[in-house]
Amino acid sequence: MAYQVPLLINGSMVQSKTQQWLEVTNPASQKVIAHLPCATADEVKAAIAAAKNVFEQWQRVPVPERARLMLRYQALLKEHHDELAQLLSRDTGKTLEDARGDVWRGIEVVEQAANISSLTLGEIQTEVATGVDCYSFSQPIGVCLGITPFNFPAMIPLWMFPLAIACGNAFVLKPSEQDPLVPMELARLFKEAGAPDGLLNIVHGGPEVVDQLLTHDDIAAVSFVGSVAVGRHVYRTATDRLKRVQVFAGAKNHMVVMSDANKLQAINNLVGASVGAAGQRCMAISVGVLVGEAQAWIPDIKAALAKVQPGVWNDPQAGYGPLISKAAKKRVLALIEAGKQEGADCLLDGSDCTVSEHPDGNWVGPTLFAGVTPAMRIYTEEIFGPVLLLMTADSLEQAIALVNANPYGNGTAIFTASGAAARKYQQEIQVGQVGINVPIPVPLPFFSFTGWRGSFYGDLHAYGKQAVRFYTETKTVTARWFDDDVAAGPNMSIHLK
Ligand code: NAD
Repeated sequence: MAYQVPLLINGSMVQSKTQQWLEVTNPASQKVIAHLPCATADEVKAAIAAAKNVFEQWQRVPVPERARLMLRYQALLKEHHDELAQLLSRDTGKTLEDARGDVWRGIEVVEQAANISSLTLGEIQTEVATGVDCYSFSQPIGVCLGITPFNFPAMIPLWMFPLAIACGNAFVLKPSEQDPLVPMELARLFKEAGAPDGLLNIVHGGPEVVDQLLTHDDIAAVSFVGSVAVGRHVYRTATDRLKRVQVFAGAKNHMVVMSDANKLQAINNLVGASVGAAGQRCMAISVGVLVGEAQAWIPDIKAALAKVQPGVWNDPQAGYGPLISKAAKKRVLALIEAGKQEGADCLLDGSDCTVSEHPDGNWVGPTLFAGVTPAMRIYTEEIFGPVLLLMTADSLEQAIALVNANPYGNGTAIFTASGAAARKYQQEIQVGQVGINVPIPVPLPFFSFTGWRGSFYGDLHAYGKQAVRFYTETKTVTARWFDDDVAAGPNMSIHLK
């Protein structure tokens, strides 16, 4: 019997009493590595109750003490960085290097959470009227909920619970059912760092569990990362219950390549950003827009892409790993087929790819389409696989119009040697995260992760200052102290008369 993943409720790793179990498989071998419970309704309630209970005390714990918990946690995560990365590789199929990056980007957010004392500083203005001061400060909001996707099982949970908890909240996490082992290990280390029981709780499951969490009265705020359809459902359901919600959804990220760009850099970056992690990144580049004479670079792009090959996590030659599931592979292959049917020019077809020692893995080879038009399904849908589409534009203006007409706005990049072109792009593009000669511009945690339009629903983004605002409520005090109340103060003589 494979390992049965526990739930984390009120500080204890408990075995679920559910009758409903899911299989967690290694995507390179299909071997079942764990059985995952879909938590029962009572277990979900118990997790929320534990969080609510500890919140009453945790919100009063001094800010420096909350920060010290994060410092201890950061140190433990660093100590276990390699182990976490190896576990992550085996659970997701990511290459070891990629898995290390996944963990590291999460650790950086914990470092940010350790700065909570300065991040939550309030504001004050004295003498807003005679003898009257006004000041505002932030207070935690209660029990926060995180629902996370499969593709960054370390980084994305770490976007959420450390900052929420550092702000004084308690947290319930519902990790992806496809790779829950790393989130459990993150939780174990959090406990080891000294987190009080109930501060972080983890329940597992699918749509039913998510819906129960979303509609529970004691959940104050919801952070969700995942696909567009589910994201919209989460946003609608939770805002209908008048909760605070941030939803980070799917994407279609474009890289505009100007003909004055450094050709080698542009091509290498386009290739790496499109098929790295098998294209299973919300910031992956899925469309290259070749402007003017850069359209002649298609054969070079094809040659560079053809050199990248998938492989198993510990193969140093592997450019990327398998797709997360058989279902994901089926969906990607169907989209590749749709691209061919709709008349795009398939220059490289990874549909029949296999890796010799792991023939059952969810492999898809690097795939390249040219001649793509905006109405094709491969353009309108997020493929989330190692598939790069090439489109063309006669001018920068045309390229900007193309990108802005796409409903998603997570990330984009421009490769150019022209500062003027880069600045025009930066100003006019309707996308929340822009790279200038940087293909995947994921901001570090002292900024925020700021997807726009169809890639984000809500107002306040992940990590950085925006997350602190998301996980807190601002209170504003207007205060007046009467001079004649000062004992032995200036007006005392008046009273004595
Ligand atoms: P997903 O939407 O299938 O799952 C995300 C979470 O929602 C999981 O915890 C899952 O259990 C839950 N879920 C799934 N179906 C549900 C339903 N019907 N009702 C309620 N909950 C449900 O996403 P995924 O496949 O795990 O992740 C890939 C997607 O996430 C891609 O679309 C990618 O672009 C997106 N993503 C976005 C960002 C971002 O920052 N914008 C970051 C990473 C991933």
